[in-house]
Amino acid sequence: MFSYRHAFHAGSHADILKHLILIHLVEYLQEKPGALTIIDTHAGAGIYSLKDGFAAVSKEAEGGIFKLFQFIESGHPTADSVKKYVGLIQVENVEGELVTYPGSPFILARLLRPQDRLKLFELHPKEIDILRHNVRELKQAKQIDVYAEDSFSRLKGLLPPPSRRGLVLIDPSYEDKQDYRYLETAMEEALQRFATGCYAIWYPALARREAAALPDRMKKIATHHKRSWLHAELRVENAPGERRLQASGMFIINPPWTLEKNLAQALPILIKALGIGSGAQFVLKSFEV
Ligand code: SAM
Repeated sequence: MFSYRHAFHAGSHADILKHLILIHLVEYLQEKPGALTIIDTHAGAGIYSLKDGFAAVSKEAEGGIFKLFQFIESGHPTADSVKKYVGLIQVENVEGELVTYPGSPFILARLLRPQDRLKLFELHPKEIDILRHNVRELKQAKQIDVYAEDSFSRLKGLLPPPSRRGLVLIDPSYEDKQDYRYLETAMEEALQRFATGCYAIWYPALARREAAALPDRMKKIATHHKRSWLHAELRVENAPGERRLQASGMFIINPPWTLEKNLAQALPILIKALGIGSGAQFVLKSFEV
């Protein structure tokens, strides 16, 4: 436990899929003026250097955000949601050169309106200190609460939010194999308390039994609670035996009606920009109650 540091994966293809979807969810939910509560159950450090530290060692951003920026700079056609996502990454890189990658806490903080609130959970003893320090630097800091607590057990206590309008990002590291089980329990409890919330769950698309079963487990929970869902997976390559993460997915419960159309445009662009060989492909499925 606690060997996972998100800086190794900052700006990877998995971050791109997760953050692009996250931005669309927030923007859709902000179409109404009522206050929105956003809960990021697994926050990480908040923002990462791409030039030094863990990210420079792993070089995952080279196959992710650097590749996407090059693709766009070469004049390839893109999609609105890709442009919006890239715009938010550029906010943290005012000098033009890509040196910093914002994690979900910073992306979400930048999108907050004055009436919105952001709640961040982080358990790692070093990451929580870095996160607190980073959040203090934000002009939105007063709208943000940071909890050094286990979000799987604490989530239900925050639901439903006072305004009854809420978005929950669940982005575990799955470092602890039990996370798959904790996720199911947390989702059951969350839907019992706040069935109309929008829930976005990230997962690594791995051969491991629990990971492969995750989308079906989430479908079962959504169906049991009579909720609509959307499932998107982005595979950038198919190289059996290769240790690096080649695919990841997002499972959304109560997705906005606009999300599927949006991803039908964005995912083929991400495949063109980030794909390696003919194994690059995406999945996009949904079910409406
Ligand atoms: N959401 C972040 C982003 O998109 O930038 C990345 C988060 S990273 C995948 C997962 C984080 O969750 C790690 O920093 C880890 O320390 C933290 N974590 C693991 N188990 C947790 C738990 N039960 N409650 C809260 N945080 C946890």
